[in-house]
Amino acid sequence: MLLADRFHQEVFTELDCLDCANCCKTIPPILNDNDIRRLSKALGIKEKEFFLKYVRIDEDGDQVMAQTPCPFLLENNHCLVYESRPRACREYPHTDGSQFTENLKLHAVNAYHCPAVFHILERIEKQFGSS
Ligand code: SF4
Ligand code: SF4
Repeated sequence: MLLADRFHQEVFTELDCLDCANCCKTIPPILNDNDIRRLSKALGIKEKEFFLKYVRIDEDGDQVMAQTPCPFLLENNHCLVYESRPRACREYPHTDGSQFTENLKLHAVNAYHCPAVFHILERIEKQFGSS
């Protein structure tokens, strides 16, 4: 197992995302066409309606959730559309398996938003600092 993957497993065993939800509160997830199709179906509305209500195009030209905090975040930090949530939400914070090395630049930014990324990077730094 890769070192980063081991730290990912460790940190997510210690941390409960339901005590945090900072990603859902601060980072609008990218929505691909499949996400929009799946979410519209789950909500029982037409894709066009979903698009008008929940989607905006960001500065990179990506379709993202229009509001932050996410409109599907509930008061208890659960996700109203958990089973149908966007792929970006499923994969965040991209520290699992091969995603870690594919997203190195992102981790530096995400460390400011996500305590899990912060702790994973901290453990990696400590590991290399002590060897
Ligand atoms: S910001 Fe990180 S630790 Fe917090 S809920 Fe999101 S993934 Fe979990
Ligand atoms: S769809 Fe769910 S998991 Fe994704 S940002 Fe919104 S509340 Fe969070």
